[in-house]
Amino acid sequence: MKIAFFDTKPYDKPSFDAFSAEAGMEIKYFETKLTPDTVSLAEGFDAVCVFVNDNVNAEVIDRLCEMGVRAVALRCAGYNNVDVKHAFGKVHVFRVPAYSPYAVAEHAMAMLLTSIRRIHKAYIRTRDFNFSLSGMTGFDLFGKTVGVIGTGKIGRVFIDICRGFGMKVLAYDKYPAQDLDNGDTVRYVSLDELFESSDIISLHCPLTEDTYHLIDAESLAKCKRGVVIINTSRGALVDAEALLSGIKARSVGAACLDVYEEESDFFFEDFSGHILDDDILARLISMPNVIVTSHQAFLTEEALSNIAETTVKNLLDFMRDGGSPNEVCYRCGKEADCGTRGKCF
Ligand code: NAD
Repeated sequence: MKIAFFDTKPYDKPSFDAFSAEAGMEIKYFETKLTPDTVSLAEGFDAVCVFVNDNVNAEVIDRLCEMGVRAVALRCAGYNNVDVKHAFGKVHVFRVPAYSPYAVAEHAMAMLLTSIRRIHKAYIRTRDFNFSLSGMTGFDLFGKTVGVIGTGKIGRVFIDICRGFGMKVLAYDKYPAQDLDNGDTVRYVSLDELFESSDIISLHCPLTEDTYHLIDAESLAKCKRGVVIINTSRGALVDAEALLSGIKARSVGAACLDVYEEESDFFFEDFSGHILDDDILARLISMPNVIVTSHQAFLTEEALSNIAETTVKNLLDFMRDGGSPNEVCYRCGKEADCGTRGKCF
């Protein structure tokens, strides 16, 4: 099986080389993203392997189909960048539903602690032998209320971490998991109650039509003054302009952003010698109480190895059996995994 691998970064290759060699697959690595302009590179391949900012829209899917490419293997969990409705009946789409929820949840907590204990400031100050503590006052997490939106794999790990800090958890999920609510330290509540009562809000739901700009001017207006917003999920869950206004108005206390709505133009690339053509991102980064990482939450050795192993297995299953349990199927339920091993078409 021949795979065209798009948006390749140096850290992708070692794990993919190891697992694909074992499986007898041939991978050609392209640095460019998959877009309508680059899709012709996939000519002659059986499958494409893509990441979060590749654009698998209807045009790309039609071209893949014309060229005889039969599968799109996402090496990530989210699939908001794939038109799965259009893909149905044309190309099979696979994803890696879980590779390390710990990687993302731990990064969310790392960002939160960095922000509220001013570690990012302290690191720079002490390197300059500035041992002053003025402006460094933080607050305890113990006893604070964290609102967790999305209580799937990552949200649950994040909740466990927060409970370790002695925090109270208010949870919201479209499909609540009843075993999680203990009526005391973890409670499912309405979104409004979560907004009104949380000191910190962390987003762990997928990007869908329902969740687009979940954090916007209206929801921020319901939040406590000084609320900390953490987004390690998908950029468009947050209306960045509204967040910036909240920060300027001092109603948002801090923001920890691993994702950004327009990240595909910037993230994963080095723009250090350039003028950033995104005023909102530039202004957010300039704020002392905003921490931005460039979609880095997944990046641990464990996660990279699990991603490569599952992606190669998805393609092997498809090759041998015509399907994989990790198929993303439009027909079989809410654009989610169909569980029929891709036998729907
Ligand atoms: P998951 O599928 O296990 O959990 C998602 C949860 O969100 C589910 O419980 C689901 O019921 C809930 N949900 C769905 N629609 C909702 C809605 N409208 N409102 C509230 N909740 C809703 O997924 P996961 O593995 O926990 O990943 C969560 C998200 O994290 C992914 O969708 C992806 O966007 C993001 N992610 C980011 C990184 C990163 O590096 N920053 C890495 C992996 C995943």
